[in-house]
Amino acid sequence: MGSKDLKFNSKTIHGGQHPDKAYGAVMPPIYQTSTYAQTTPGGHKGFEYSRSGNPTRTALENSLASIENGKYGLAFASGLAAMDAVIKLLNPGDEVVSTNDLYGGSYRLFKQIFEKYGITFHFIGMQDPGKIEGYINDKTKLIWVETPTNPMMNIINIKAVSDMARKHGVLLAVDNTFATPYIQQPLDLGADIVMHSATKYLGGHSDVVVGGLVVKDKTLADKLYFIQNASGAVCGPMDSFLVLRGIKTLHVRMQRHNENGIAIANFLADHPKIEKVYWPGFEDHPNHNVAKEQMKGFGGMISFITKGSNYDDAIKIVEKLQLFTLAESLGGVESLAGHPASMTHASIPKEEREKSGVVDALIRLSVGIEDVDDLIADLEQAIG
Ligand SMILES: *Cc1c(COP(=O)(O)O)cnc(C)c1O
Repeated sequence: MGSKDLKFNSKTIHGGQHPDKAYGAVMPPIYQTSTYAQTTPGGHKGFEYSRSGNPTRTALENSLASIENGKYGLAFASGLAAMDAVIKLLNPGDEVVSTNDLYGGSYRLFKQIFEKYGITFHFIGMQDPGKIEGYINDKTKLIWVETPTNPMMNIINIKAVSDMARKHGVLLAVDNTFATPYIQQPLDLGADIVMHSATKYLGGHSDVVVGGLVVKDKTLADKLYFIQNASGAVCGPMDSFLVLRGIKTLHVRMQRHNENGIAIANFLADHPKIEKVYWPGFEDHPNHNVAKEQMKGFGGMISFITKGSNYDDAIKIVEKLQLFTLAESLGGVESLAGHPASMTHASIPKEEREKSGVVDALIRLSVGIEDVDDLIADLEQAIG
């Protein structure tokens, strides 16, 4: 049975994996080597230099391709290195239409690195995909979507955006870091490129920084591979191994993230001191129906605001939390809390940030897989 025919919960464990040819090791060995012996110039066994390729990285790249229902995977030194490779497909004069409410580091990469090379980015709300069309012209080469968005948990209809991208001959890339392929598979909905910060749910244990891309099209894969090799921000063998190990439990972790997410979103919504909870599982979430259709569960990311609170109140709450660790990042087994305005989104100017709802009072939770009663008790004591 080829791993293509497997169901998702088996692909996480077996997708693109084979026992090692040398000794039958069940886990891909960590090939901690920069180079490979050749019998004659060019006479090698498929690997010649570890920037160009490394067997442990190949195992991860195959696994990524398998779980995202793609054909080609590429693993990078970080999520941002993966994004950097995608934008390097473009030329000066090209334009990109991007989600406005996106990971702060993505915004910084677009604005502060690539704009100076003559690429123009339009940051817009995409909850109504019809709005995107007004920003597409002859120079538009790429649409960049993040859904659910970070940290406002807006939902963008991937199928609708991909139909529009196709109509205009524009590439569509989806940052699938928050949802993971357990929850949504953008390539099946028509996206051309899926991007991951594998640092988050795919790795799942807050012990590694890695990025990934998955595509179906061979020509696109070749162009991205050329950039990966030419620019060199590759994922090392040890880090590849750690993410491979993480992916093996992705489905069981995501199931619990989903369950704990439901319980915590409802706890917060019912709490008398809470003003607003941002979570796509609520029926009154503006794009709840799209979320229900394109996602399997609503994940463990939740943002909220307490009544009448300001910057200082939000800081007090995140400082009081004990089981939720105050930290950047998300998607690990342990629960984390963050204050987007001063942490993940500090690199976005205040007016720009507040336009998309990232106000000073906003708190973001990455709900882990601990016992949910303990998590709720911690929130209870911190919110007071
Ligand atoms: C963390 C993150 C990134 C950047 O990934 P790194 O691995 O930190 O470089 C991009 N997008 C989203 C949604 C993220 O959460």
